[in-house]
Amino acid sequence: MANEQSSDILSQFVAELAAGRIRVVDLTTPLEPATPVIDLPPMFAPSPGLSVTEISRYNDAGPAWYWNILHLGEHTGTHFDAPIHWVTGKELPDNTTDTIPPRKFIGPACVIDVAADVAQNPDFLLTPERVQEWEATHGRIPAGAWVLLRTGWSARTSRAEFLNAGADGAHSPGFAKACSEFLARERDVLGVGVETVGTDAGQAGTFDPPFPNHSTMHGAGKFGITSLINLDQLPPTGAVVIAAPLKIVGGSGSPLRVLALTPA
Ligand code: MN
Repeated sequence: MANEQSSDILSQFVAELAAGRIRVVDLTTPLEPATPVIDLPPMFAPSPGLSVTEISRYNDAGPAWYWNILHLGEHTGTHFDAPIHWVTGKELPDNTTDTIPPRKFIGPACVIDVAADVAQNPDFLLTPERVQEWEATHGRIPAGAWVLLRTGWSARTSRAEFLNAGADGAHSPGFAKACSEFLARERDVLGVGVETVGTDAGQAGTFDPPFPNHSTMHGAGKFGITSLINLDQLPPTGAVVIAAPLKIVGGSGSPLRVLALTPA
């Protein structure tokens, strides 16, 4: 027999959704061939963006049906990073897109708004002190939360503005190493979500260690989600994020549809 109270809560949830008192906010960037993928230095293999080939479209190849073939890197557009994506997470249990327990794809959202700082400094890094300032107002980040870094970056819709690459590499915001360590170890978050192309800052290849957010988060079995939009439609706390990657066997990540449920 199902727990009666939980069953009541789910019925109430469905009623609230139907009444429009719970809103579904789509945090996903549209996925198309123009969707930018992270640029790595030329000594590393690049990941392809999306290409779409038609199989048939109500024609001789398939008179009543339309479908396509997709070719893309796992880490394209709004996508999920699994722990096995990084060398620090390669030995962890349940570290691939098919083995992560599905319970971990749903969690409360803590949205930290640093858009004003990023407008002044595209290389802005979130620090543990800044997180604790946020907590002083909004409460402690609960274990199992998604921490979403609201930077305003999703307003940069052209490839050049979004990647913001200079001669010295990309300039985009991210996390100080100490902050990733704090969130993973002291707060036990599910992971972090960002508006930028990756969960590390644009300059993070020059940090010690390189890409410290990937290194720390995935080494601790945590996740990443990237290229989010509409974070300005979420309250600092109170929304719930659903971020479930494709069940690719042995997958290091996948494009996904990220949804937030938020009070209307
Ligand atoms: Mn990735």
